[in-house]
Amino acid sequence: MTSLAERPPTSLELPEAETFILSVGGMKCGGCVGAVERLLKQQPGVLGASVNLVTATARVTCQTGSSQAESLAAYLGEKGFPAQVQERSAPPSPLPEAAPPYGSLATALALLILSSLGHWQHLGGGHLPLVGSLGFHWLLATLALAIPGQEIFRDGWRSFRQGRPDMNTLVALGTGAAYLASCVAFLWPQGGWECFFDEPVMLLGFILLGRALEGQARNQAARSLKSLLALQPPLARLQLGEQTALLPVEQIAIGDRLSVLPGEKIPVDGDVLTGTSAVDEALITGESLPIAKGPGDSVLAGALNQTGVLTIQAAQVGSGTALAQIIAAVREAQTRKAPIQRLADTAAGYFAYGVLTLALMTALVWSIGGHLGLETGGVQPELLGIKSAIAVLVVACPCALGLATPTAILVATGVGAELGLLIKGGDVLENAQRLTMIAFDKTGTLTQGRPRLQALFPQRRSSERELLQVAASLEQGSNHPFAQAILAAAQEQDLPLLNARDFHTEAGAGVRAMLEDGTRIFIGNRGWLEEHGISLPADSPSISPLSTLLYVARGQSWLGCLALADSLRPEAEETLARLRALGLKTALLTGDRPETAQAIGAELQILDVRAQIRPQEKARQIETWQNAGEIVAMVGDGINDAPALAQADVGISLGGATDAALETADIVLMRAQLSDLLGALSLSRAAVGKIRQNLVWALGYNLVAIPLAAGLFWRWGHLSLSPGWAAACMAGSSLLVVTNSLTLKRFPSRIES
Ligand code: ADP
Ligand code: MG
Repeated sequence: MTSLAERPPTSLELPEAETFILSVGGMKCGGCVGAVERLLKQQPGVLGASVNLVTATARVTCQTGSSQAESLAAYLGEKGFPAQVQERSAPPSPLPEAAPPYGSLATALALLILSSLGHWQHLGGGHLPLVGSLGFHWLLATLALAIPGQEIFRDGWRSFRQGRPDMNTLVALGTGAAYLASCVAFLWPQGGWECFFDEPVMLLGFILLGRALEGQARNQAARSLKSLLALQPPLARLQLGEQTALLPVEQIAIGDRLSVLPGEKIPVDGDVLTGTSAVDEALITGESLPIAKGPGDSVLAGALNQTGVLTIQAAQVGSGTALAQIIAAVREAQTRKAPIQRLADTAAGYFAYGVLTLALMTALVWSIGGHLGLETGGVQPELLGIKSAIAVLVVACPCALGLATPTAILVATGVGAELGLLIKGGDVLENAQRLTMIAFDKTGTLTQGRPRLQALFPQRRSSERELLQVAASLEQGSNHPFAQAILAAAQEQDLPLLNARDFHTEAGAGVRAMLEDGTRIFIGNRGWLEEHGISLPADSPSISPLSTLLYVARGQSWLGCLALADSLRPEAEETLARLRALGLKTALLTGDRPETAQAIGAELQILDVRAQIRPQEKARQIETWQNAGEIVAMVGDGINDAPALAQADVGISLGGATDAALETADIVLMRAQLSDLLGALSLSRAAVGKIRQNLVWALGYNLVAIPLAAGLFWRWGHLSLSPGWAAACMAGSSLLVVTNSLTLKRFPSRIES
């Protein structure tokens, strides 16, 4: 887990900080990311800022009450990064699809073709009338710099003035220098300099082409979130008496009755009142088979109603729906950085200075050295110096470095969301692939969490009826799986519930309340009742070791026990075996009695079993493991395991789209399938592998390309890069990184096979 300032505030944390997301325009490369972060962090009240180049967003954490979102956005705008506050609580609305950049593609291609015509001639391709004249090339270069190149010059100059030179500064300097040097040669032919107007034109052409293609690839990377956004249907059929009215979904309120026809998407989260149908929730929960729904069942916004007409009552609308929360979580995840990226961003921030220095040195070494006997192969030393310096300026751009991590995270989290694996950010992916140990909760995690009441063991002076009645009255105040089982049993026998108040649930222990006459009643595990001074018989009824025993007391006297049986999840055994095969240690942490815990441990071959521990102790146990050097994941059902989920390096919650699960866990397995753990782990391994490849490529590229551009290999057959080809390399390297990240999209098919 990351530090507090990094995390979205959860219900467990004091609301000292608030987080919001700004959409930030005008960022071109890794250097800008650092610049925007610095600008934000310098502002008073800002606790943290994390900027994502690919989604063009900044996640800002501020002290509560400073409510600065608007003013920060305005401030960024002044500094050349037009920004807007993103409404987190608004219902998801589809992002406007960015139009394909045909204009810039055409410009880039035109520049490239025209500039290569010049080259063609140099290579002896014959004389072309107009293209052969220097005046034409001068005009072309001037126009190229003044029109399509204008933005680069403007932005580059502004960042330079603000003391944070970036990619635009480098490109502008490179193109500008090439243009000026050629102008000098053009106007003063006696100097004997070569005129190379093609170079700045080709350079601009490649930069613009690279940007246009890269922009397209980035859009593709962001598309998976769009497919989630597209799930939200815009309209709903509101029932008004006998009639229905088609209304924008924003106008639906909780409690409204809606009808949903076959083939339509469910507009809001709700409960089915009438009708039966098969509903496909695949894109929300990842569950691939349609689920039969009838009266009393709940349905989720975005699910596809397949066969029947349903009347539903709205239970959650707008930002409250599970779909809206998933989208908010994915959006947020995509702005959360992997630690590995901080390094890259910091490096990119200083990169420009380094490159400027290198370029200057290159120019000096060639111009001075050339006169002192450095072999230039007949080329004028100054000319070689300038050309090489320009190539250095252009070839070394931190673009690929800046894109290496966010593109991979973007694609991985998007692919995850489609598979029902909600992964809350780059840091999570990075931690998940480092895990050495996985601890499991029992009830609801290893077991199905659908216990049945198996037997009642009333004490001699009590009766089965009384025992169940007191137990059920207590469980009214609980949402534990046991509570549902006990209440269902009481309902079957038509037992009236007692009037009770002051319900108190002790997570991982039991429930207590007070009857109208002031008598206290309890249900829970043995240890907890004994803590309340209730004396229990030494021997307990003999039941199957996989069952749980709950003790019930009224006042200080014990009324008897209930035995509840829950079955193991069918996929538990195989999943644990495969986790062990991956080299992970497994452990069981449960609040249940040791006999049950041991029996389950034996069944699933878990060696490390800790029974009868409370949620807080689960967290402490995880800390102990962590202190011993383990990197621990906790898998829980997200209801009462919050402290342990928060303590673990990766908190994984299993289960539907409940608020608690979405908020506390780092990874939510939406399908509530234990086997999805394997998918989540291998996705994180794949993503981090991609990030490493990208970083190695981006760094390695610079290690080779910069010396090549600087002319270090000149003595070997005049091996070097012309400014135009330097631009091609640079554009190619960023494109390669983004494309490499996009290959993660093939991950789902890899899981299936
Ligand atoms: P696990 O750690 O296996 O998920 P819990 O932490 O949910 O289990 O609960 C641990 C134990 O606390 C249960 O086995 C039960 O004895 C007791 N307990 C917890 N909640 C309740 C409840 N609502 N009613 C009765 N007993 C409960
Ligand atoms: Mg549990």
